[in-house]
Parts: sequence; structure tokens; C-alpha cells
Amino acid sequence: MSKSAKKNITDGQLVIEQSRDALWPNYSPPQDLLFSHGVGSELVTENGEVYLDFLSGIAVTAFGHSHPHLVKALQSQTEKLWHLSNIFRIPASERFAGQLVQHSFADRVYFANSGTEAIEAGIKAVRAYQAGIGHKERFRLLGFTDSFHGRTIAAVAASGNPGYMQNFAPTDHGFDQVPWGDLKAVKAAISPQTAGILIETVQGEGGIRPVNRDFLAGLRALCDSHGLLLMLDEVQCGAGRTGKLFAHENFEIQPDVLAAAKGLGGGFPLGACLATESVGKHMVVGTHGSTFGGNPLAMAVGNAVLDLLLEPGLLDEVSRKGAELRTALENLVTAHPSVLERVTGMGLMIGVKCVVPNVDLMAALRTNRLLVGRAGDNMIRLLPPLNVSDAHLEQALNTITDTIEKLA
Ligand SMILES: *Cc1c(COP(=O)(O)O)cnc(C)c1O
Repeated sequence: MSKSAKKNITDGQLVIEQSRDALWPNYSPPQDLLFSHGVGSELVTENGEVYLDFLSGIAVTAFGHSHPHLVKALQSQTEKLWHLSNIFRIPASERFAGQLVQHSFADRVYFANSGTEAIEAGIKAVRAYQAGIGHKERFRLLGFTDSFHGRTIAAVAASGNPGYMQNFAPTDHGFDQVPWGDLKAVKAAISPQTAGILIETVQGEGGIRPVNRDFLAGLRALCDSHGLLLMLDEVQCGAGRTGKLFAHENFEIQPDVLAAAKGLGGGFPLGACLATESVGKHMVVGTHGSTFGGNPLAMAVGNAVLDLLLEPGLLDEVSRKGAELRTALENLVTAHPSVLERVTGMGLMIGVKCVVPNVDLMAALRTNRLLVGRAGDNMIRLLPPLNVSDAHLEQALNTITDTIEKLA
């Protein structure tokens, strides 16, 4: 079709049909599904059909859609100041950083706009630390197979998934991977060039896999004995998802650097890289920066998200709901071994390994108005809002049960 023919279409639906070809073809959303708004754990289509959202934009809308406290925070900021640049002080970013420091291992925080950027900042911080203490030769980061750290060149190289790196040569950007959970392999892979170890506390895209406590303790010990830094990717599993503000708190082990994003912004693009003082102090003027990072709008929402995360009892409720959902799903696995294999996860980050193709179950659930995600290892991924109601949990379970009984 010619450009002018495309542009002459005025009917709303047709404009959408035609102009989707204007996007890069790098996503494949279901073509027949168009959402107009969301309230809490529910999304509503343009036709008024209501879907239960147990994906939360991949763990992003941590308090559901249009939460009044978040809406108010953003609305009141839009009337005051949108953007300033880090050339000037941004009090809301100082407050947000101060709160994060007060409630975590960290002493210093850098704000970015996405998970990948938080990861990039962390990688630079690890390398800057080693260079700063006289070990310029230590620049390599050791990571794990099936990991996912984002989509920039450094982040895909850190993930080591060959499919994601294809056609984006060169391939060696200073990252090595060893099998998940294999401490011996980690030990063997540490070289004089190794600067740190990068790991998702709970693997997300690769299949919902919480790190093993002893393994994480082993990594911490190896870092300490070899002068390496431990960097955690909590972009997906942080911000309350596992029932703790940050997932590593479940294991009583502290990192040196941590990347967070997704749920921390509650739906506003926001990332944060947290670090100890001994690492953060190396990120002096000129080492790193961002035009938008820590922008007043993002900081207004981030502070409001943290208000909700720190409300007494919220995190305990995440653990309780997660445990209940998990038990119910485990019963379903027992009842329908021809469809489901096992349940994994922590808190409200739950994976269900399927026997049937995960995409089939995901599509069947969508037909029944329940939105879930998929993950590696043939899993479906449940990431409901952290404040999901018991009634919606029950509704989701009923939908899953009905769907599975038909598939069995
Ligand atoms: C989503 C994700 C990222 C990348 O975050 P973006 O905001 O998409 O850049 C990195 N690490 C993990 C574990 C993630 O789940």
C-alpha cells in the first residue's frame, strides 16, 4: 500500500490496523486484544471486556493499575515540574535515594530509566571499583546460563544467551557464563581478569528459579576471598515481589551492587542501581550519567511506590498470598500431572512448569480472561499485583483450574 493510501484512512480501528506496520516487527502482541484502561488487578478492553491481570506488565504495575496514591503523586508533579536535568538538585531523588539507603544494604543510589540501564550502571560501577583500587586488569563479569539482564549490547553480552547476541558482533565484551547453581564451575572460571559476579537473585525470563541459599552464600564467600564484587540483578524480583523489599534479604546475604527497576516505578519507567559506599564512591563526576534518570516525574512516582511498599504488613501479605497461591497450584499439579509438572518461585513471583506447551496454556487462559506470562523452561509466569485481593486470587485459581481441566 502506498504511503498516501495509508494516511487517508480515518476510521479509528483501521488506522490502528494499518499503522501497526509502522513499528519495528520486534514484538508480537495478540492482534485482537486492545486494552483501554485498568483498575487495580483488572484490565478493560475497548469493548468493555474485563481481564484479570496476573502479569502486571511483567512485574511492573506492582500496585495494579491507576492506584490512587500513585495517580495523585504523578498528577500533582505534572503540574509543577516535568524535567530539570541532574545539572540541578532534585529533592525528590535525594529523598527516594535516602529511603532506599535506609531500607537496604546500600549507601549510594544512581537513578536510571530502565532495568537495562540499572544493569549497565552496575557493570560500570563494578569495573570502576576494581580500577579505582588499582586492579584495572579486572574487568570481566562472571554470570550464569539462562540469565537475562536486558537488551543493550553489554546486557545481552552479560546474559550470554547466544540467540540474543547473534548478529550484534563483536561477542566478547568481557562477560563469562557458567551453569546456574554450579559453584565449582564458578570457582574454576574465576581468572585474574574477573571483577565480579552478576546473578539474578530469582531468575525471571529463563524460568522462575530462586537462587539456592548455599549457592548464594558460596558466591559471597568466593567474592570475599578473591576480591570480587557481588552484583545482584533484582530488576524483576526486587521491589517487594518476593515478600522482602529486596529478594536477597530472604537469604541474609548482602551484595555490593544491586540493579532494580520494573516494580520500583509501579508503571513509570524507572531504574535504580544501589551500591555500597566502597563501590559507589568511585562513580564520581564524569563516570556516568543520564539525561532523564532521576527525573522529577519518575521520582515523584518512585517515592509514592516506596510509601506503599513500606506500609506496615504489605510485604508479609505478599508472602502470605504467595504461599497460598503456591499451595493451591501445587494441588493442581498433583491433580493434573498431564498438564502441569511443578511450581517454583518466591512470594508473588511464581512459575508453573507445564507439560503441555506453555504458550498453549497461556493462550487458553487468555481466552478465559486471565493474563499470565511465559518464561523459559516451558513455564507460565504469575506476577499479580502485590496488593492483589484474595477474591482475585481465588478467581484466578478458578480460571486456571477450569482451563486445565479442559486441557487435561
Ligand atoms: C526486565 C529485566 C531486565 C531489563 O529491564 P528493562 O527495563 O527491560 O531494560 C533486566 N534484568 C531482569 C532480571 C529483568 O527481568
